[in-house]
Amino acid sequence: MNFALHGAPVSPGITIGRAHLVSSARLEVAHYAIPDESVPAEVFRFDAAIARAKQDLSALEAHIAADAPQEFGAFIELHRMILEDSSLSHVPRELIRERKCNAEWALVQQMETLVEQFERADDAYLRERRHDIEQVVERVLKALAGEHGLGEPPLAEEARLIVVAHDLSPADMMLFKRHQFGGFVTDVGGVTSHTAILARSLDIPAIVGLHFARHMIRENDLLIVDGIQGVLVVDPDPLVLAEYQLRQSQHELERKKLRRLRRTPAATLEGTPVELHANIELPQDVKQVHEAGAQGIGLFRTEFLFLNRRELPSEDEQFEAYREVARAMDGKPVVIRTLDVGADKALGLDSPALAPNPALGLRAIRFCLAEPQIFLVQLRAILRASHYGRVSVLLPMLAHAHEIEQALNLLRQAKEQLSAAGARFLRGIKVGGMIEIPAAALALPMLMRRLDFLSIGTNDLIQYTLAIDRTDDAVAHLYDPVHPAVLQLIAHTIQTAGRGGTPVAVCGEMAGDAGLTRLLLGMGLRNFSMHPAQLPAIKERILRTSLEQAQPLAQRLLRATDPEKIRELLAQLNA
Ligand code: PEP
Ligand code: MG
Repeated sequence: MNFALHGAPVSPGITIGRAHLVSSARLEVAHYAIPDESVPAEVFRFDAAIARAKQDLSALEAHIAADAPQEFGAFIELHRMILEDSSLSHVPRELIRERKCNAEWALVQQMETLVEQFERADDAYLRERRHDIEQVVERVLKALAGEHGLGEPPLAEEARLIVVAHDLSPADMMLFKRHQFGGFVTDVGGVTSHTAILARSLDIPAIVGLHFARHMIRENDLLIVDGIQGVLVVDPDPLVLAEYQLRQSQHELERKKLRRLRRTPAATLEGTPVELHANIELPQDVKQVHEAGAQGIGLFRTEFLFLNRRELPSEDEQFEAYREVARAMDGKPVVIRTLDVGADKALGLDSPALAPNPALGLRAIRFCLAEPQIFLVQLRAILRASHYGRVSVLLPMLAHAHEIEQALNLLRQAKEQLSAAGARFLRGIKVGGMIEIPAAALALPMLMRRLDFLSIGTNDLIQYTLAIDRTDDAVAHLYDPVHPAVLQLIAHTIQTAGRGGTPVAVCGEMAGDAGLTRLLLGMGLRNFSMHPAQLPAIKERILRTSLEQAQPLAQRLLRATDPEKIRELLAQLNA
Protein backbone atom coordinates (compact mmCIF):
# COMPACT_ATOMS: atom_id res chain seq x y z
CA MET A 1 0.00 0.00 0.00
CA ASN A 2 1.28 3.38 -0.98
CA PHE A 3 1.14 6.26 1.53
CA ALA A 4 3.10 9.22 2.93
CA LEU A 5 3.75 10.34 6.50
CA HIS A 6 4.83 13.77 7.71
CA GLY A 7 7.24 14.46 10.55
CA ALA A 8 9.95 16.87 11.56
CA PRO A 9 12.98 16.90 9.23
CA VAL A 10 16.16 16.69 11.29
CA SER A 11 18.91 15.89 8.84
CA PRO A 12 18.66 17.09 5.24
CA GLY A 13 19.02 15.02 2.10
CA ILE A 14 16.96 12.41 0.31
CA THR A 15 17.49 8.70 0.61
CA ILE A 16 15.68 5.82 -1.05
CA GLY A 17 15.99 2.35 0.43
CA ARG A 18 14.42 -0.58 2.21
CA ALA A 19 12.92 -0.41 5.70
CA HIS A 20 14.81 -2.06 8.52
CA LEU A 21 12.59 -2.22 11.61
CA VAL A 22 14.44 -1.86 14.86
CA SER A 23 12.94 -2.40 18.27
CA SER A 24 12.60 -4.99 20.93
CA ALA A 25 10.67 -6.73 18.18
CA ARG A 26 8.37 -8.77 20.33
CA LEU A 27 5.14 -6.93 20.90
CA GLU A 28 5.40 -4.51 18.07
CA VAL A 29 4.90 -6.74 15.07
CA ALA A 30 2.85 -5.49 12.16
CA HIS A 31 -0.40 -7.18 11.21
CA TYR A 32 -1.34 -7.48 7.58
CA ALA A 33 -3.47 -9.62 5.31
CA ILE A 34 -1.97 -12.17 2.93
CA PRO A 35 -3.74 -12.77 -0.41
CA ASP A 36 -4.92 -16.39 -0.94
CA GLU A 37 -2.28 -17.19 -3.51
CA SER A 38 0.54 -16.03 -1.19
CA VAL A 39 -0.47 -18.13 1.81
CA PRO A 40 1.77 -21.10 0.94
CA ALA A 41 4.72 -18.74 0.53
CA GLU A 42 3.98 -17.18 3.94
CA VAL A 43 3.87 -20.65 5.53
CA PHE A 44 7.16 -21.41 3.85
CA ARG A 45 8.60 -18.15 5.24
CA PHE A 46 7.50 -19.21 8.70
CA ASP A 47 9.04 -22.69 8.36
CA ALA A 48 12.29 -21.17 7.13
CA ALA A 49 12.41 -18.84 10.14
CA ILE A 50 11.88 -21.75 12.54
CA ALA A 51 14.68 -23.65 10.79
CA ARG A 52 16.89 -20.57 11.00
CA ALA A 53 16.19 -20.15 14.72
CA LYS A 54 17.16 -23.80 15.26
CA GLN A 55 20.40 -23.26 13.37
CA ASP A 56 21.13 -20.21 15.54
CA LEU A 57 20.66 -22.29 18.67
CA SER A 58 22.97 -25.02 17.35
CA ALA A 59 25.58 -22.40 16.51
CA LEU A 60 25.27 -20.99 20.02
CA GLU A 61 25.69 -24.46 21.48
CA ALA A 62 28.78 -25.12 19.39
CA HIS A 63 30.36 -21.97 20.77
CA ILE A 64 29.73 -22.58 24.44
CA ALA A 65 33.05 -22.20 26.19
CA ALA A 66 34.25 -25.27 28.09
CA ASP A 67 34.10 -23.37 31.37
CA ALA A 68 30.64 -21.86 30.79
CA PRO A 69 28.12 -22.54 33.54
CA GLN A 70 26.09 -25.74 33.10
CA GLU A 71 22.83 -23.80 33.09
CA PHE A 72 23.80 -22.30 29.76
CA GLY A 73 23.64 -25.64 27.99
CA ALA A 74 20.38 -26.46 29.77
CA PHE A 75 18.87 -23.19 28.66
CA ILE A 76 19.70 -23.87 25.02
CA GLU A 77 18.21 -27.34 25.32
CA LEU A 78 15.01 -25.92 26.78
CA HIS A 79 14.75 -23.33 24.00
CA ARG A 80 15.24 -26.02 21.39
CA MET A 81 12.45 -28.08 22.95
CA ILE A 82 10.10 -25.08 22.91
CA LEU A 83 11.00 -24.39 19.30
CA GLU A 84 10.32 -27.98 18.28
CA ASP A 85 7.06 -28.28 20.15
CA SER A 86 4.13 -28.35 17.76
CA SER A 87 2.34 -25.62 19.72
CA LEU A 88 4.96 -23.21 18.41
CA SER A 89 6.20 -24.81 15.24
CA HIS A 90 2.84 -25.96 13.79
CA VAL A 91 -0.06 -24.00 15.26
CA PRO A 92 1.08 -20.66 13.74
CA ARG A 93 1.07 -22.35 10.30
CA GLU A 94 -2.61 -23.15 10.82
CA LEU A 95 -3.28 -19.57 11.89
CA ILE A 96 -1.61 -18.22 8.74
CA ARG A 97 -3.84 -20.48 6.63
CA GLU A 98 -7.04 -19.82 8.56
CA ARG A 99 -6.70 -16.10 9.14
CA LYS A 100 -4.65 -15.31 6.03
CA CYS A 101 -2.32 -13.16 8.08
CA ASN A 102 1.42 -12.59 8.13
CA ALA A 103 3.69 -15.06 9.91
CA GLU A 104 4.81 -12.60 12.59
CA TRP A 105 1.26 -11.89 13.62
CA ALA A 106 0.32 -15.58 13.72
CA LEU A 107 3.37 -16.34 15.84
CA VAL A 108 2.70 -13.57 18.35
CA GLN A 109 -0.98 -14.59 18.62
CA GLN A 110 0.06 -18.12 19.49
CA MET A 111 2.73 -16.87 21.87
CA GLU A 112 0.12 -14.90 23.78
CA THR A 113 -2.10 -17.97 24.10
CA LEU A 114 0.81 -20.03 25.43
CA VAL A 115 2.02 -17.32 27.79
CA GLU A 116 -1.48 -17.06 29.25
CA GLN A 117 -1.56 -20.83 29.89
CA PHE A 118 1.83 -20.74 31.59
CA GLU A 119 0.85 -17.76 33.71
CA ARG A 120 -2.09 -19.76 35.10
CA ALA A 121 0.14 -22.68 36.17
CA ASP A 122 0.35 -23.39 39.91
CA ASP A 123 3.96 -24.39 39.67
CA ALA A 124 6.33 -21.39 40.00
CA TYR A 125 8.89 -23.04 37.71
CA LEU A 126 6.33 -23.40 34.93
CA ARG A 127 5.11 -19.82 35.42
CA GLU A 128 8.68 -18.62 34.92
CA ARG A 129 8.91 -20.47 31.61
CA ARG A 130 6.77 -17.80 29.91
CA HIS A 131 9.96 -15.75 29.56
CA ASP A 132 11.63 -18.59 27.71
CA ILE A 133 8.71 -18.76 25.31
CA GLU A 134 8.97 -15.02 24.70
CA GLN A 135 12.71 -15.28 24.06
CA VAL A 136 12.24 -18.13 21.61
CA VAL A 137 9.52 -16.19 19.78
CA GLU A 138 11.81 -13.19 19.62
CA ARG A 139 14.44 -15.35 17.98
CA VAL A 140 11.98 -16.52 15.34
CA LEU A 141 10.77 -12.93 14.78
CA LYS A 142 14.33 -11.88 14.17
CA ALA A 143 14.73 -14.66 11.64
CA LEU A 144 11.51 -13.50 9.96
CA ALA A 145 12.83 -9.96 9.83
CA GLY A 146 15.58 -11.08 7.50
CA GLU A 147 18.62 -13.22 7.18
CA HIS A 148 20.41 -11.05 9.68
CA GLY A 149 19.53 -10.25 13.29
CA LEU A 150 17.83 -6.96 14.10
CA GLY A 151 20.27 -4.09 14.28
CA GLU A 152 23.03 -6.05 12.62
CA PRO A 153 22.56 -6.09 8.87
CA PRO A 154 25.52 -7.16 6.76
CA LEU A 155 27.68 -4.20 5.80
CA ALA A 156 27.20 -4.32 2.03
CA GLU A 157 23.46 -3.82 2.38
CA GLU A 158 23.53 -1.17 5.08
CA ALA A 159 23.74 1.85 2.85
CA ARG A 160 20.40 0.94 1.34
CA LEU A 161 18.69 0.31 4.67
CA ILE A 162 16.55 2.85 6.44
CA VAL A 163 16.23 2.34 10.17
CA VAL A 164 12.61 2.58 11.33
CA ALA A 165 12.17 2.77 15.09
CA HIS A 166 9.60 3.94 17.59
CA ASP A 167 12.31 5.78 19.46
CA LEU A 168 16.09 5.77 19.51
CA SER A 169 18.18 6.97 22.42
CA PRO A 170 21.45 8.81 21.81
CA ALA A 171 23.13 5.63 23.07
CA ASP A 172 21.35 3.60 20.32
CA MET A 173 22.47 6.14 17.77
CA MET A 174 26.07 5.75 18.88
CA LEU A 175 25.83 2.05 18.09
CA PHE A 176 24.48 2.88 14.63
CA LYS A 177 27.43 5.19 14.12
CA ARG A 178 29.49 2.10 13.46
CA HIS A 179 27.27 1.22 10.52
CA GLN A 180 26.46 2.96 7.29
CA PHE A 181 22.70 3.18 7.15
CA GLY A 182 20.91 5.17 4.46
CA GLY A 183 18.58 7.03 6.80
CA PHE A 184 16.63 7.08 10.07
CA VAL A 185 12.98 7.63 10.88
CA THR A 186 11.35 7.54 14.30
CA ASP A 187 7.85 7.91 15.72
CA VAL A 188 8.86 10.29 18.50
CA GLY A 189 11.59 12.82 19.29
CA GLY A 190 12.31 16.52 18.90
CA VAL A 191 14.52 18.22 16.33
CA THR A 192 17.17 19.23 18.86
CA SER A 193 17.13 15.99 20.85
CA HIS A 194 20.57 14.42 21.01
CA THR A 195 19.25 11.59 18.84
CA ALA A 196 18.46 14.10 16.08
CA ILE A 197 21.80 15.83 16.60
CA LEU A 198 23.57 12.52 16.10
CA ALA A 199 21.60 11.79 12.92
CA ARG A 200 22.83 15.15 11.62
CA SER A 201 26.37 14.34 12.58
CA LEU A 202 26.09 11.04 10.69
CA ASP A 203 25.07 13.17 7.73
CA ILE A 204 22.24 10.93 6.61
CA PRO A 205 18.64 11.98 5.97
CA ALA A 206 16.41 11.60 9.01
CA ILE A 207 12.88 12.41 10.17
CA VAL A 208 11.49 12.29 13.72
CA GLY A 209 7.96 12.64 15.11
CA LEU A 210 6.28 10.42 12.49
CA HIS A 211 3.92 9.04 15.18
CA PHE A 212 2.88 5.63 13.80
CA ALA A 213 5.56 4.86 11.26
CA ARG A 214 6.90 1.89 13.22
CA HIS A 215 3.47 0.24 13.15
CA MET A 216 2.58 1.06 9.58
CA ILE A 217 5.82 0.07 7.89
CA ARG A 218 6.88 -3.49 7.25
CA GLU A 219 10.39 -4.88 7.07
CA ASN A 220 11.79 -4.40 3.58
CA ASP A 221 9.14 -1.88 2.41
CA LEU A 222 10.54 0.55 -0.13
CA LEU A 223 10.89 3.99 1.50
CA ILE A 224 11.78 7.51 0.43
CA VAL A 225 13.09 9.67 3.28
CA ASP A 226 12.90 13.34 2.39
CA GLY A 227 14.93 14.83 5.22
CA ILE A 228 14.49 18.31 3.75
CA GLN A 229 10.69 18.46 3.90
CA GLY A 230 10.15 15.82 6.60
CA VAL A 231 8.15 13.54 4.28
CA LEU A 232 8.35 9.76 4.34
CA VAL A 233 6.89 7.99 1.31
CA VAL A 234 6.12 4.30 1.74
CA ASP A 235 5.97 2.01 -1.26
CA PRO A 236 6.05 4.89 -3.80
CA ASP A 237 4.56 4.54 -7.28
CA PRO A 238 7.04 4.74 -10.19
CA LEU A 239 6.33 8.41 -10.98
CA VAL A 240 6.93 9.57 -7.40
CA LEU A 241 10.04 7.41 -7.23
CA ALA A 242 11.45 8.95 -10.42
CA GLU A 243 10.72 12.47 -9.12
CA TYR A 244 12.57 11.79 -5.87
CA GLN A 245 15.50 10.16 -7.68
CA LEU A 246 15.85 13.39 -9.63
CA ARG A 247 15.66 15.52 -6.47
CA GLN A 248 18.19 13.23 -4.81
CA SER A 249 20.74 13.70 -7.58
CA GLN A 250 20.14 17.49 -7.63
CA HIS A 251 20.74 17.63 -3.89
CA GLU A 252 23.93 15.61 -4.24
CA LEU A 253 25.12 17.92 -6.99
CA GLU A 254 24.52 20.97 -4.78
CA ARG A 255 26.51 19.38 -1.99
CA LYS A 256 29.39 18.58 -4.31
CA LYS A 257 29.49 22.19 -5.45
CA LEU A 258 29.56 23.38 -1.85
CA ARG A 259 32.43 21.06 -1.01
CA ARG A 260 34.58 23.02 -3.44
CA LEU A 261 34.55 25.86 -0.90
CA ARG A 262 36.60 23.77 1.49
CA ARG A 263 39.72 25.93 1.30
CA THR A 264 37.98 29.29 0.80
CA PRO A 265 38.26 31.41 3.95
CA ALA A 266 34.90 32.36 5.42
CA ALA A 267 34.35 36.12 5.14
CA THR A 268 31.45 38.43 4.39
CA LEU A 269 31.23 40.48 1.18
CA GLU A 270 33.05 43.30 2.99
CA GLY A 271 35.87 40.92 3.85
CA THR A 272 35.05 40.58 7.57
CA PRO A 273 36.42 37.19 8.63
CA VAL A 274 34.11 34.69 10.35
CA GLU A 275 35.38 31.65 12.24
CA LEU A 276 33.76 28.32 11.42
CA HIS A 277 34.37 25.46 13.84
CA ALA A 278 33.03 21.93 14.09
CA ASN A 279 31.10 19.92 16.69
CA ILE A 280 32.20 16.32 17.27
CA GLU A 281 31.21 13.38 19.43
CA LEU A 282 34.11 10.97 18.98
CA PRO A 283 37.77 11.22 17.88
CA GLN A 284 36.96 9.48 14.60
CA ASP A 285 34.80 12.49 13.60
CA VAL A 286 37.95 14.56 13.06
CA LYS A 287 38.24 13.17 9.53
CA GLN A 288 34.97 14.90 8.60
CA VAL A 289 36.17 18.07 10.34
CA HIS A 290 39.19 18.23 8.01
CA GLU A 291 37.10 17.38 4.96
CA ALA A 292 34.77 20.27 5.78
CA GLY A 293 37.71 22.66 6.17
CA ALA A 294 36.79 23.73 9.73
CA GLN A 295 39.16 26.07 11.57
CA GLY A 296 38.96 24.11 14.78
CA ILE A 297 36.67 22.12 17.03
CA GLY A 298 34.22 24.37 18.85
CA LEU A 299 32.48 21.60 20.77
CA PHE A 300 33.68 18.12 21.61
CA ARG A 301 30.71 16.45 23.33
CA THR A 302 32.80 14.12 25.50
CA GLU A 303 29.84 12.37 27.14
CA PHE A 304 29.54 10.16 24.07
CA LEU A 305 32.71 8.39 25.21
CA PHE A 306 30.78 7.43 28.33
CA LEU A 307 27.63 5.93 26.75
CA ASN A 308 26.87 2.27 25.99
CA ARG A 309 29.12 0.90 28.69
CA ARG A 310 28.81 -0.20 32.26
CA GLU A 311 32.14 1.21 33.42
CA LEU A 312 33.41 4.73 33.13
CA PRO A 313 36.34 5.28 30.76
CA SER A 314 39.59 5.45 32.73
CA GLU A 315 41.80 8.55 32.82
CA ASP A 316 44.19 6.96 30.33
CA GLU A 317 41.41 6.00 27.94
CA GLN A 318 40.01 9.53 28.04
CA PHE A 319 43.46 11.06 27.72
CA GLU A 320 44.13 9.01 24.62
CA ALA A 321 40.84 10.04 23.02
CA TYR A 322 41.44 13.75 23.76
CA ARG A 323 45.08 13.56 22.68
CA GLU A 324 44.08 11.89 19.42
CA VAL A 325 41.82 14.85 18.64
CA ALA A 326 44.36 17.47 19.80
CA ARG A 327 47.10 15.93 17.66
CA ALA A 328 44.89 15.45 14.62
CA MET A 329 43.86 19.11 14.76
CA ASP A 330 47.53 20.06 14.54
CA GLY A 331 47.59 23.32 16.50
CA LYS A 332 44.05 24.37 15.62
CA PRO A 333 41.78 25.09 18.60
CA VAL A 334 39.98 22.18 20.28
CA VAL A 335 37.26 23.03 22.80
CA ILE A 336 36.64 20.01 25.01
CA ARG A 337 33.35 20.19 26.87
CA THR A 338 33.28 18.42 30.21
CA LEU A 339 30.82 15.61 30.76
CA ASP A 340 27.25 16.68 29.97
CA VAL A 341 25.39 13.59 31.15
CA GLY A 342 21.87 13.34 32.48
CA ALA A 343 18.51 14.03 30.83
CA ASP A 344 18.49 12.09 27.53
CA LYS A 345 22.15 11.12 27.86
CA ALA A 346 21.98 8.85 30.88
CA LEU A 347 25.06 6.91 31.90
CA GLY A 348 24.76 3.14 31.65
CA LEU A 349 25.88 2.69 35.25
CA ASP A 350 23.61 1.40 37.97
CA SER A 351 22.33 4.88 38.44
CA PRO A 352 19.86 5.96 41.10
CA ALA A 353 16.15 6.11 40.32
CA LEU A 354 15.18 8.39 37.47
CA ALA A 355 14.86 12.05 38.44
CA PRO A 356 11.33 13.46 38.25
CA ASN A 357 12.45 16.11 35.73
CA PRO A 358 15.77 14.93 34.34
CA ALA A 359 16.38 18.05 32.21
CA LEU A 360 16.06 20.13 35.38
CA GLY A 361 17.94 17.65 37.52
CA LEU A 362 21.49 16.57 38.18
CA ARG A 363 22.73 17.18 34.65
CA ALA A 364 26.07 18.32 33.21
CA ILE A 365 28.16 20.49 35.58
CA ARG A 366 25.75 19.68 38.42
CA PHE A 367 26.49 15.97 38.05
CA CYS A 368 30.24 16.60 37.81
CA LEU A 369 30.28 18.71 40.97
CA ALA A 370 28.24 16.08 42.78
CA GLU A 371 30.76 13.42 41.65
CA PRO A 372 34.09 15.26 42.00
CA GLN A 373 36.12 12.08 41.62
CA ILE A 374 34.64 11.41 38.18
CA PHE A 375 35.15 15.08 37.28
CA LEU A 376 38.78 15.11 38.45
CA VAL A 377 39.58 12.10 36.28
CA GLN A 378 38.22 13.91 33.24
CA LEU A 379 39.95 17.20 34.08
CA ARG A 380 43.30 15.43 34.44
CA ALA A 381 42.78 13.63 31.12
CA ILE A 382 41.96 16.93 29.36
CA LEU A 383 44.93 18.68 30.95
CA ARG A 384 47.30 15.92 29.88
CA ALA A 385 45.96 16.16 26.32
CA SER A 386 46.48 19.94 26.37
CA HIS A 387 50.22 19.30 25.98
CA TYR A 388 49.53 18.02 22.46
CA GLY A 389 47.46 20.82 20.98
CA ARG A 390 45.50 24.04 21.51
CA VAL A 391 43.05 22.56 23.97
CA SER A 392 40.58 24.50 26.12
CA VAL A 393 37.88 23.40 28.56
CA LEU A 394 34.18 24.23 28.28
CA LEU A 395 31.78 23.90 31.24
CA PRO A 396 28.15 23.07 30.35
CA MET A 397 24.90 24.29 31.92
CA LEU A 398 26.24 26.99 34.20
CA ALA A 399 23.82 29.08 36.25
CA HIS A 400 25.70 29.99 39.44
CA ALA A 401 28.99 31.69 40.23
CA HIS A 402 29.77 29.01 42.79
CA GLU A 403 29.57 26.31 40.12
CA ILE A 404 32.36 28.03 38.23
CA GLU A 405 34.36 28.57 41.44
CA GLN A 406 34.05 24.90 42.35
CA ALA A 407 34.95 23.74 38.86
CA LEU A 408 37.99 26.04 38.81
CA ASN A 409 39.03 24.73 42.22
CA LEU A 410 38.85 21.17 40.96
CA LEU A 411 40.85 22.18 37.89
CA ARG A 412 43.52 23.63 40.21
CA GLN A 413 43.54 20.37 42.17
CA ALA A 414 43.90 18.37 38.96
CA LYS A 415 46.85 20.57 37.93
CA GLU A 416 48.52 20.08 41.32
CA GLN A 417 48.10 16.32 41.10
CA LEU A 418 49.59 16.25 37.61
CA SER A 419 52.47 18.53 38.59
CA ALA A 420 53.25 16.28 41.55
CA ALA A 421 53.32 13.31 39.16
CA GLY A 422 55.60 15.20 36.75
CA ALA A 423 53.03 15.23 33.91
CA ARG A 424 53.13 17.93 31.25
CA PHE A 425 50.14 20.13 30.46
CA LEU A 426 49.15 23.61 29.40
CA ARG A 427 49.30 25.61 32.65
CA GLY A 428 47.26 28.54 31.36
CA ILE A 429 44.58 26.37 29.77
CA LYS A 430 41.58 28.53 28.92
CA VAL A 431 38.25 27.79 30.56
CA GLY A 432 34.96 28.72 28.94
CA GLY A 433 31.33 28.41 29.93
CA MET A 434 28.20 27.52 28.04
CA ILE A 435 25.29 29.91 28.00
CA GLU A 436 22.39 27.49 28.01
CA ILE A 437 20.23 28.65 30.89
CA PRO A 438 18.45 32.02 30.69
CA ALA A 439 19.85 32.90 34.13
CA ALA A 440 23.39 32.67 32.73
CA ALA A 441 22.54 34.95 29.81
CA LEU A 442 20.87 37.48 32.10
CA ALA A 443 23.70 37.51 34.66
CA LEU A 444 26.48 37.53 32.11
CA PRO A 445 29.05 39.73 33.93
CA MET A 446 29.00 37.23 36.79
CA LEU A 447 30.21 34.55 34.36
CA MET A 448 32.50 36.73 32.26
CA ARG A 449 34.47 37.77 35.33
CA ARG A 450 35.42 34.16 35.95
CA LEU A 451 35.75 32.72 32.44
CA ASP A 452 37.98 33.15 29.37
CA PHE A 453 35.31 32.59 26.71
CA LEU A 454 31.63 31.83 26.20
CA SER A 455 29.72 29.48 23.92
CA ILE A 456 25.96 29.77 23.47
CA GLY A 457 24.20 26.40 23.51
CA THR A 458 21.02 27.41 21.75
CA ASN A 459 19.43 23.95 22.03
CA ASP A 460 19.22 24.12 25.78
CA LEU A 461 18.79 27.89 25.83
CA ILE A 462 15.60 27.45 23.78
CA GLN A 463 14.49 24.46 25.86
CA TYR A 464 14.85 26.37 29.12
CA THR A 465 13.59 29.74 27.87
CA LEU A 466 10.45 28.37 26.26
CA ALA A 467 10.00 25.53 28.79
CA ILE A 468 9.81 22.81 26.11
CA ASP A 469 11.47 19.46 26.62
CA ARG A 470 13.68 19.13 23.56
CA THR A 471 13.08 15.37 23.38
CA ASP A 472 9.29 15.55 23.52
CA ASP A 473 7.60 15.66 20.12
CA ALA A 474 4.30 16.64 21.76
CA VAL A 475 5.75 20.13 22.30
CA ALA A 476 8.12 20.16 19.32
CA HIS A 477 5.88 22.66 17.48
CA LEU A 478 6.69 25.19 20.20
CA TYR A 479 10.41 25.03 19.46
CA ASP A 480 11.12 28.45 17.97
CA PRO A 481 14.66 29.78 17.57
CA VAL A 482 13.33 33.19 16.49
CA HIS A 483 11.02 33.67 19.45
CA PRO A 484 11.69 37.26 20.60
CA ALA A 485 12.72 36.06 24.09
CA VAL A 486 15.31 33.67 22.64
CA LEU A 487 16.68 36.31 20.26
CA GLN A 488 16.91 38.90 23.06
CA LEU A 489 18.99 36.52 25.19
CA ILE A 490 21.32 35.64 22.32
CA ALA A 491 21.74 39.25 21.19
CA HIS A 492 22.37 40.39 24.75
CA THR A 493 25.03 37.69 25.21
CA ILE A 494 26.83 38.55 21.95
CA GLN A 495 26.79 42.30 22.66
CA THR A 496 27.78 42.09 26.33
CA ALA A 497 30.58 39.61 25.67
CA GLY A 498 31.80 41.78 22.77
CA ARG A 499 31.88 44.92 24.92
CA GLY A 500 33.75 43.07 27.68
CA GLY A 501 36.28 41.58 25.24
CA THR A 502 35.21 38.01 26.00
CA PRO A 503 35.18 35.77 22.90
CA VAL A 504 31.76 34.29 22.22
CA ALA A 505 30.59 31.53 19.87
CA VAL A 506 27.32 29.75 19.14
CA CYS A 507 27.62 25.94 19.19
CA GLY A 508 23.94 24.94 19.31
CA GLU A 509 21.98 23.85 16.26
CA MET A 510 21.17 27.45 15.31
CA ALA A 511 24.80 27.84 14.20
CA GLY A 512 24.29 25.20 11.50
CA ASP A 513 20.99 26.56 10.19
CA ALA A 514 21.69 28.55 7.02
CA GLY A 515 18.33 30.32 7.42
CA LEU A 516 19.66 31.99 10.57
CA THR A 517 23.26 32.73 9.51
CA ARG A 518 22.62 36.29 8.33
CA LEU A 519 20.59 37.07 11.42
CA LEU A 520 23.39 35.88 13.71
CA LEU A 521 25.98 37.78 11.67
CA GLY A 522 23.82 40.89 11.87
CA MET A 523 23.63 40.41 15.63
CA GLY A 524 27.43 40.53 15.74
CA LEU A 525 28.34 36.85 15.90
CA ARG A 526 31.70 36.01 14.31
CA ASN A 527 32.26 32.46 15.59
CA PHE A 528 30.00 29.53 14.65
CA SER A 529 30.40 25.86 15.59
CA MET A 530 28.32 23.13 13.92
CA HIS A 531 28.35 19.62 12.47
CA PRO A 532 31.00 19.35 9.78
CA ALA A 533 28.31 18.41 7.24
CA GLN A 534 26.58 21.76 7.73
CA LEU A 535 29.71 23.85 7.41
CA PRO A 536 29.90 24.28 3.60
CA ALA A 537 26.33 25.62 3.36
CA ILE A 538 26.96 28.09 6.19
CA LYS A 539 30.19 29.24 4.58
CA GLU A 540 28.45 29.80 1.29
CA ARG A 541 25.81 31.91 3.02
CA ILE A 542 28.48 34.01 4.75
CA LEU A 543 30.33 34.57 1.47
CA ARG A 544 27.12 36.00 0.02
CA THR A 545 26.30 38.23 3.02
CA SER A 546 26.73 41.97 3.18
CA LEU A 547 27.07 43.02 6.80
CA GLU A 548 26.11 46.53 5.80
CA GLN A 549 22.71 45.19 4.78
CA ALA A 550 22.36 42.48 7.41
CA GLN A 551 23.12 44.58 10.50
CA PRO A 552 20.28 47.16 10.27
CA LEU A 553 17.78 44.44 9.30
CA ALA A 554 18.87 42.27 12.23
CA GLN A 555 18.51 45.24 14.59
CA ARG A 556 15.01 45.93 13.27
CA LEU A 557 14.17 42.26 13.70
CA LEU A 558 15.37 42.37 17.31
CA ARG A 559 13.08 45.32 18.04
CA ALA A 560 10.08 43.55 16.51
CA THR A 561 7.75 41.89 18.96
CA ASP A 562 5.26 40.39 16.55
CA PRO A 563 6.13 36.88 15.24
CA GLU A 564 4.76 37.72 11.80
CA LYS A 565 6.92 40.83 11.54
CA ILE A 566 9.93 38.78 12.70
CA ARG A 567 9.36 36.23 9.95
CA GLU A 568 8.87 38.94 7.36
CA LEU A 569 12.17 40.60 8.34
CA LEU A 570 13.92 37.24 8.38
CA ALA A 571 12.72 36.59 4.84
CA GLN A 572 14.07 40.02 3.81
CA LEU A 573 17.41 39.21 5.42
CA ASN A 574 17.62 35.95 3.53
CA ALA A 575 16.41 37.32 0.20
C1 PEP B 1 23.22 23.15 23.28
O1 PEP B 1 22.51 22.93 24.27
O2 PEP B 1 22.92 23.97 22.39
C2 PEP B 1 24.48 22.41 23.11
C3 PEP B 1 25.33 22.72 22.17
O3 PEP B 1 24.71 21.35 23.92
P1 PEP B 1 23.92 19.95 23.76
O4 PEP B 1 23.13 20.01 22.49
O5 PEP B 1 24.93 18.87 23.74
O6 PEP B 1 23.05 19.91 24.98
MG1 MG C 1 23.34 21.79 25.90
